[in-house]
Amino acid sequence: EKAALQILKDAKSITTDGHEVELAGNIGNAKDVEGVLNNGGEGVGLFRTEFLYMDADHFPTEDEQFAAYKEVLEGMGGRKVVVRTLDIGGDKKLSYFTFPEEMNPFLGYRAIRLCLDRTDIFRTQLRALIRASIYGRLCIMFPMIATVDEFRQAKAIFNEEKENLIKEGVQVADNIEVGMMVEIPAAAVNADNFAKEADFFSIGTNDLIQYSMAADRMSENVSYLYQPYNPSILRLVNMTIQGAHKEGKWAGMCGEMAGEPYAVPLLLGMGLDEFSMSATSILPARKMVNNLSKKEMEKLAEEALKLSTAEEVLELVKKTVDK
Ligand code: PEP
Ligand code: MG
Repeated sequence: EKAALQILKDAKSITTDGHEVELAGNIGNAKDVEGVLNNGGEGVGLFRTEFLYMDADHFPTEDEQFAAYKEVLEGMGGRKVVVRTLDIGGDKKLSYFTFPEEMNPFLGYRAIRLCLDRTDIFRTQLRALIRASIYGRLCIMFPMIATVDEFRQAKAIFNEEKENLIKEGVQVADNIEVGMMVEIPAAAVNADNFAKEADFFSIGTNDLIQYSMAADRMSENVSYLYQPYNPSILRLVNMTIQGAHKEGKWAGMCGEMAGEPYAVPLLLGMGLDEFSMSATSILPARKMVNNLSKKEMEKLAEEALKLSTAEEVLELVKKTVDK
């Protein structure tokens, strides 16, 4: 079983009718790169940089961050690396930073909201990233974007720091893609407009489900509402992908859903371009993709999007792929 999967390590992720997608890995630090490569990852679809901050006793300096980003980009040997800027707050706290007291930290001062307020912290990270860009193929994305204006502000700061570095005589790559996480329903619904300005999307289903169903992703008491296969979620995911494609942009997914065996057929059918998951899920997902027809999955997705409940969707997917 494991050996059978291992022969797919260097294989393409391509359907029976010739449609190719990218299967990538999620990482939390440079040491995780090895696991992604050993499991046949074609890229890194999510580098959660908050661990650089959480594992330290001070805000990591520009040089400390530069070293980490360079290591990841070099380690991936020119494959695409999507780095998410600081996603702190909510449940992720720092020992050396005091967050404001809030009734609902998950709906509060966090991620891009904090970065657009504390631009000093944000600029340090962006400078480190831009400096590292020449060591591989870098994509940067912003977490928890709710409005186009937030994206514009973040992108403008990125452009300013890139110009500053160029003026300082630092070499920078000219092909850095700047995209965003789609993990707030407001962003999914407005995806076609975001796609005019963002280079790509990465759908964060862990939060997208939480915020769509108004159900804390950590709470056992309401865990029955955590439904990736709920048609409401599928419709938001589909709107995001179609919104990207309408503007010629690519759409990925880096939430847990991207690696779920019964979600892959649906996402393939909706046209998702990049699937990013924990390293150990990559080879099973490749085996699945290699055995599915894009045309048939398009029909499956179309039918699934008309259904009313998660149970109905799952039943349809199982009936279609468990043959
Ligand atoms: C997500 O929300 O789906 C995601 C990938 O980000 P995180 O799990 O780090 O919130
Ligand atoms: Mg998230």
